[in-house]
Amino acid sequence: MDADLVVVGCGPIGLMAAIRATQHGLTVIAVDRLTGVYPLPRAIGMDDEIQRLFATAGMLDGLRGCSTPMPGAEFQDRHGTRVIGYDIPPDLVGPNGHPPVIAFDQPSLERLMRTRARDIGVEVRLSTDVTGLTGTTVHTDGGDIIGRWVLGADGASSFVRKHLGIALEDQGFDESWVVADTTLLDPELPLPRNCIQHCEPARVITFVPGHGTRRRWEFQLLPGETHDEMGSHERVAELLARWGTSTELRIDRVAVYRFHATVADRFRVGDVFIAGDAAHQMPPFNGQGMCSGMRDADNLAWKLAAVASGTADEALLDTYDLERRPHARGQVEHSADAGRLINTIARGGEAALESGYGGGRSFPHLEGGCIVGDHPRVGHPFPQPVIDGTGFDPTLGDGWAAVTTAGTEPDLPAGLHRVVADPAHFPGLVEPGVTVLVRPDRHVAAVTNDVPAALAALTATGMRFG
Ligand SMILES: Cc1cc2nc3c(=O)[nH]c(=O)nc-3n(C[C@H](O)[C@H](O)[C@H](O)COP(=O)(O)OP(=O)(O)OC[C@H]3O[C@@H](n4cnc5c(N)ncnc54)[C@H](O)[C@@H]3O)c2cc1C
Repeated sequence: MDADLVVVGCGPIGLMAAIRATQHGLTVIAVDRLTGVYPLPRAIGMDDEIQRLFATAGMLDGLRGCSTPMPGAEFQDRHGTRVIGYDIPPDLVGPNGHPPVIAFDQPSLERLMRTRARDIGVEVRLSTDVTGLTGTTVHTDGGDIIGRWVLGADGASSFVRKHLGIALEDQGFDESWVVADTTLLDPELPLPRNCIQHCEPARVITFVPGHGTRRRWEFQLLPGETHDEMGSHERVAELLARWGTSTELRIDRVAVYRFHATVADRFRVGDVFIAGDAAHQMPPFNGQGMCSGMRDADNLAWKLAAVASGTADEALLDTYDLERRPHARGQVEHSADAGRLINTIARGGEAALESGYGGGRSFPHLEGGCIVGDHPRVGHPFPQPVIDGTGFDPTLGDGWAAVTTAGTEPDLPAGLHRVVADPAHFPGLVEPGVTVLVRPDRHVAAVTNDVPAALAALTATGMRFG
């Protein structure tokens, strides 16, 4: 065997899986057919949960260097009036201990991740095309690589997914959009500070204020418009004329995409897994495509490591699909509904605004798998308050934690790190007599006053404690 885990694809999801698995103690080889990072415009928004993951993965400083907090987001009608949206006060920290949303540059982020992966010991093999798979032997144009497990993080056209015979469930959203990243040359140009969905009958348009001087526009293609025609800088310059001239806005990169809404019907076949765009694709209106893939990566990494170290049975690996697939489907459905809402508002139709920014549609959480009990916080990320300028996560550690109050003394097996917390920092969650069991991916597994019973229930999902 060459490595515990062979990762096919060094996009953001493959790299995050490789980094987290290495941090948890696995040996990892990650391969990609490309030499450089994908250069065209893609992800730009990241939520606070994924920023928290970047901090855990040791990349927070690098992330801050290529990102800017977003001040808000809104849907506007044909008159430019806000239909629904929100504003984020400066310095607001979300429940995960970071700004609720940041704008970043995906190629810069991927370069940061490649460096981090190599620094912590991931063997990154670039210019290496995966051409076949037999069990967990990955055939490449540079020879075979044998892993105990294989992860297909090879993007939307995933070879690994197709090879496994995994089908995509279609959620019925297909639209072509042209995406243009520009640099703001004239700082006086009066552009909005918020991300805006212009729900206009002539053409719906997205505006996203990016990191630094980057400004992005996304234009929906109209019937009859071709990808070739709309992907030209000349055509994009015409569309941008309403906001600025070529001396005010420099067009840096343009790409035309067909946005889909699909979810794989399985995320695992035997010892081979899929994650990221290989497992689910969604339109970008909620900025959740990459974020969802990051959740896959973090979810899988600790489980593989637990099985490798003998602190869990193979059965734990079944919970990857059980937990991640419904969660990802929830994100895909919400993103597609946000796209439908933009079109409905543009047509002047009656619309339920729940799927718009700030519309109150609840964020998915884990509903099954390695969790136990019906406390409302089970399956959600454990909050990370910032106390005296410092986030709480380092206190939790990198494994399982049992968070209690000072006076609560549960009988804990080895391997469960006891953390004493002030209930004032965790209202409605950490209370006298209660123990909160937190997983290595910072999700609440149980909120209980009967720790042995909770551990016994978790053992049934494959975990071994003590
Ligand atoms: C316009 C647009 C805007 C977006 N905005 C956001 C956003 O704001 N927020 C957000 O979270 N997400 C956003 N996304 C989604 C996000 O970009 C993707 O979800 C993310 O890039 C997927 O990462 P991945 O690692 O799964 O796949 P990819 O980034 O596609 O990486 C797959 C890698 O696998 C490699 N590969 C493929 N086949 C092979 C093979 N046979 N052998 C070796 N290597 C192989 C490829 O070379 C590639 O490097 C957006 C997407 C688009 C298009």
